[in-house]
Amino acid sequence: MRTFETTDDTKEEAKSERTEKIEEQKQKIQCIYCEAVLAEIEDEGPIVCLNCGKKAPYCEICKNIIVAGEKIVQVEACNHVFHKNHIQEWIKVKGTCPICKEQINEEHLRSFLPK
Ligand SMILES: [Zn+2]
Ligand SMILES: [Zn+2]
Ligand SMILES: [Zn+2]
Repeated sequence: MRTFETTDDTKEEAKSERTEKIEEQKQKIQCIYCEAVLAEIEDEGPIVCLNCGKKAPYCEICKNIIVAGEKIVQVEACNHVFHKNHIQEWIKVKGTCPICKEQINEEHLRSFLPK
């Protein structure tokens, strides 16, 4: 025997499945320095960690801030910071820093260790 509640027969879509998916997509945004959870991003622009007071770095290539758990590299010549895979792909095509147009190559990248 089925126990259907037929109060509304115009909508038959299963809503429970949808809400589960939305929760999965919500990614936690954590400070790369102290791993405190950062406030949700509403506008583009610098996000300052309320816990340690440091600014979350922003990847100019994908237009997202860089958060804990991601691979980060810094360009030696100009100190700009990017997602590792993004700047590697960028260099292959452009050969310059996306922010300051400095001529760079793979050898100018060093892994960025937040401390
Ligand atoms: Zn922090
Ligand atoms: Zn990126
Ligand atoms: Zn640069």
